[in-house]
Amino acid sequence: MCGVLGIYDNEEVIGKIYDAMLTIQHRGQDSAGILTYDGKYHIKKGNGLVQDIFDQRNIYRLRGHVGIGHTRYPTVGEGSVEDAQPFWVNYPYGIAAAHNGNVTNFLELKKDLFEKSHKIINSNCDVEVILNIFAEYLERFTSKEFTPELVFNAVKYVYKRVKGSYSVVIHIANKGMLGFRDPYGLRPLLFGIKGDKMVNSYAFASESVALDVMGFKNYEDVGPGSAIFIDNSKNRQVHRKKIINKPFRPCIFEYIYFARPDSFLNGINVDKARVELGKSLAKRIRLSNLDIDVVVPVPDSSRTAAIQIARELKLKYREGLVKNRYIGRTFIMPGNIERIKSIRHKLNPIRHVFEGKKVLLVDDSIVRGNTSRSIIQMVRDAGAEKIYFASYSAPLANPCVYGIDMQTSGEFIARDSTPEQIAAKIGADAVIYQDLDEMEKDVRKQNKHIQSFCKACFTGYYPTGDVSSEILRTIEKERDDNKCKVNEEDGTDE
Ligand code: 5GP
Ligand code: SF4
Ligand code: MG
Repeated sequence: MCGVLGIYDNEEVIGKIYDAMLTIQHRGQDSAGILTYDGKYHIKKGNGLVQDIFDQRNIYRLRGHVGIGHTRYPTVGEGSVEDAQPFWVNYPYGIAAAHNGNVTNFLELKKDLFEKSHKIINSNCDVEVILNIFAEYLERFTSKEFTPELVFNAVKYVYKRVKGSYSVVIHIANKGMLGFRDPYGLRPLLFGIKGDKMVNSYAFASESVALDVMGFKNYEDVGPGSAIFIDNSKNRQVHRKKIINKPFRPCIFEYIYFARPDSFLNGINVDKARVELGKSLAKRIRLSNLDIDVVVPVPDSSRTAAIQIARELKLKYREGLVKNRYIGRTFIMPGNIERIKSIRHKLNPIRHVFEGKKVLLVDDSIVRGNTSRSIIQMVRDAGAEKIYFASYSAPLANPCVYGIDMQTSGEFIARDSTPEQIAAKIGADAVIYQDLDEMEKDVRKQNKHIQSFCKACFTGYYPTGDVSSEILRTIEKERDDNKCKVNEEDGTDE
């Protein structure tokens, strides 16, 4: 998963884009980059957090009224700085791009571009492939008039060739700015308009919170299989087009874990969705007749749901796990033992909240079970009498091929195990999971136009219909190979 931004403004953009980058930092802490345009491209990217990459010097250099920003969460590749976005090509026109998602036929396209189009893809970053395919289409028409229709046809060409998930922001030098979402709308993308000057300003962002901080009060979601192009004319006309018609299947996991609670995605507020998830999980907890003294969230993502559970069940809610907010990127530590240790580094129990108590711990999900096992041990050591563990999402059992680095199938603790067996494995007295259908109903409540979500990590059904067992094997192999080099985040971050 990554965060992406684009802004087309009436003044220098660097201040706004930097602030907005901080609001999408949670979507990727591996690397970050900003590109601006003032007649030429200026770019700065690096590994690490936004605050560590940008300083006075490079901020001063990033001039222009147009900018693209990106925070990266590694899905393929080793997380090298060469894979950091945005990317740009100089022909035709000068085109820059950043995206959020995962291209499932990346290797095939990289090979095709080299062998058939004689273009080298220098990185392991899938946006470089999208960018080159988009540019390749425009190249064929450089002698013709440049029109929005041409841009939309280039997007159509991308749809034809590029599989997987992608929300893309593109700048075409002296022509305009474009945002589009993959045919199924798997990854989010919003479009904002600000009209307080003679000429409107426009922005794209992965989450509405980024538009909030950039001062964009009016925003809409870019539709699935749709593109929005702002041209470079004096009035900056906005052109919208639905290019391909496929079922809309936005990622449900955005609401569970990934997005910030203050964000709206696809007309759904993340915090409200988590309230609903808390309500329905409370019903299931009630049915299991557990004797509970106190409800404690695993910070940060589960707070909203845990508060709601306590309210529904008329139980005491307490913060019992303190997160050290200054420990950031534990995911770079190699090896599983380091990972387990780092969880203990990050969280520390408040003893008296647990001592002699029957505790309900609430988390958003259980993936491998390492986080929960480690937390349960910590809470037992702090003197808890009973520990029940509730997950406000259903059991996860399948890898995500659309941009969330969710382990290989064999690693999911819920694969081929009952909640009782999982409880035994993680050392809990009971494990209570959300129901899959309830989970979808809860998230859908705010936008009934969405017929269904992508839930592939829960069900194994991949909505794009083109995820072969070979693709799954390739992705799993990449993850296994990478595991020796880079260990992804320990799972206690939001
Ligand atoms: P695990 O069961 O693998 O030890 O970790 C579960 C924890 O991982 C939960 O607390 C959840 O907040 C977090 N988590 C859920 N999804 C993801 C993800 O895609 N990436 C990472 N790094 N953590 C996740
Ligand atoms: Fe989201 Fe899961 Fe689908 Fe991946 S597989 S896009 S995490 S719902
Ligand atoms: Mg967590």
